[in-house]
Amino acid sequence: MNGRASGRRTSSGPGRVDHRAGAGEHEQVPLEITRLHLASLQGLDGRRWPVHGFVVTHPGGAVLVDTGVGGPQEWLDDWRVVNRSVADALADLDMSPADIGLVINTHLHFDHCGQNAVFKHAPCYVQRAELSRAERESPELYDWFGFAGARFELLDGDAEVLPGLEVIATPGHTAGHQCVLVRGEGGAFDLLIGDAAYTPRIYADPGSDQLPAGQASDVVVWRDSMRRIRSLDPERVHFCHHTDVVHR
Ligand SMILES: [Zn+2]
Repeated sequence: MNGRASGRRTSSGPGRVDHRAGAGEHEQVPLEITRLHLASLQGLDGRRWPVHGFVVTHPGGAVLVDTGVGGPQEWLDDWRVVNRSVADALADLDMSPADIGLVINTHLHFDHCGQNAVFKHAPCYVQRAELSRAERESPELYDWFGFAGARFELLDGDAEVLPGLEVIATPGHTAGHQCVLVRGEGGAFDLLIGDAAYTPRIYADPGSDQLPAGQASDVVVWRDSMRRIRSLDPERVHFCHHTDVVHR
């Protein structure tokens, strides 16, 4: 179900440092990515789209990237959402919401921050520009999640969140969209692309005129972000709305 889940049980405990060849140079323990299936919804094209979140385990705990779908019932009805509680999805990994020490939202659409309220104990890393956009464009959603009570850590551009875990600002899908970069061994990294590209096809050919509805709120800015993402040449790309993992 994901690229790097095997062995999580044995390598994620405190003090269990992985000393494989090549890792010593940076003293960097490879982080592990586990994909969560959190929902499916009906896209504007009439097809069913999965909704994924990602757990990134590190020596000190776990980070959740995107929290799945939530919001007013009419939104869930409109999008024909078949939803799953993020707590149930975490339980499949023998985890509970309390095990998540930090949340990153790639952006604040209802299928990426919908269950943020489950993690009130955790700081939530989001771009400042994205929070402003949500407040401006989606006051209904902004109010629904009680963002005033949330512990937002507001970012202005690229940032290292933890050793080996970074966000890069990739505006275009929304004004404050960000992708997450998970460093592995030897300088390689995985990219959690969020909604910067819905599918591997769009990632492969961002110049196409056939963009699905909603892919880019600002096409010029979005294409710049896609150029940047592709120039980083990630080892693997993980999608929120597609089950394929693209390998370099
Ligand atoms: Zn989105």
